[in-house]
Amino acid sequence: MKVFVIGIGLIGGSMVLDIKTLHPEATIYGIDNNESHLAEALALGVVDKAATFDDLVDADFVIVSVPVDVALIVLPKVLDVVGDTTIVFEVGSTKIPICEAVANHPKRRHFIATHPIAGTEFSGPSAAIKGLFQGKTNIICEVEKTTFKLQEKALDLFKEMGMRIRYMDPKSHDKHIAYVSHLSHISAFMLGKTVINKEKDEQDIFDMAGSGFESTVRLAKSSPAMWTPIFKQNRKQVVKTLDEYISNLSKFKELLEKEDYEAIYNEMQSVNKIKEILNGINIKK
Ligand code: NAP
Repeated sequence: MKVFVIGIGLIGGSMVLDIKTLHPEATIYGIDNNESHLAEALALGVVDKAATFDDLVDADFVIVSVPVDVALIVLPKVLDVVGDTTIVFEVGSTKIPICEAVANHPKRRHFIATHPIAGTEFSGPSAAIKGLFQGKTNIICEVEKTTFKLQEKALDLFKEMGMRIRYMDPKSHDKHIAYVSHLSHISAFMLGKTVINKEKDEQDIFDMAGSGFESTVRLAKSSPAMWTPIFKQNRKQVVKTLDEYISNLSKFKELLEKEDYEAIYNEMQSVNKIKEILNGINIKK
């Protein structure tokens, strides 16, 4: 089995580590425009061999795992060269622009649009982890546009990795993900900014920061190179979610200014139900 990963970072790297465990006979080929990432991936055994686009013709699987703006350029080029039995999937955090970029490609039926809801704040091949996708959800868009046989080939692999499959149209995906992922990242970045701006002596932050601060601000360590194009591509939805979030923050501030502690208590109590919601999700997993 020939598996190609284009963009050998956290997500692509973690996928091929799982594939290698599940299918020891597979050869993993890596393509990355970052020479040091490619060398690191070879040294770590994340990939077996370096490859080029010319090698894609007899690939079984091609995983495109690059920043979402790069995916718009890379994906049509990959489809241009792949053979009859190749399934290509990409894993980007936005789906409308990517589905539009390949909508009229003659080999659209060789492509499956996915978004595995798994990750960490780290990037590059050294961030790749075995078992990252176990028990996680993989959102698949426009599945009907992929040839049935190739759909099955991809779905079998996702299930082997332990992923639950959810089907969604690209518009719903981009709308919902703006709330549960994109807004969380902005919120962490701006919380980090607020604290850094005020606490010029960084040692004070580390001395006083409890685990609450650390876990809330964790996502602020994420890569700007990956997140800027995500915000660009999902700008309209992200702006909407920010309006709602800013309005909630302003209301909370008003209640505090008015010293309305009963309303503050009730506000927090009503949000406490997030515990049951998240527990429910973890039980389903
Ligand atoms: P990553 O760790 O930064 O890996 C991406 C790799 O692609 C890097 O080595 C990068 O090199 C390389 N690259 C950039 N442009 C390229 C090009 N033109 N050709 C070949 N390689 C190129 O990123 P990641 O976290 O794995 O994210 C990859 C994709 O997964 C993104 O689309 C993201 O939206 C999606 N995703 C991420 C998460 C998450 O939690 N991180 C979760 C789900 C989905 P440079 O570093 O030099 O740019």
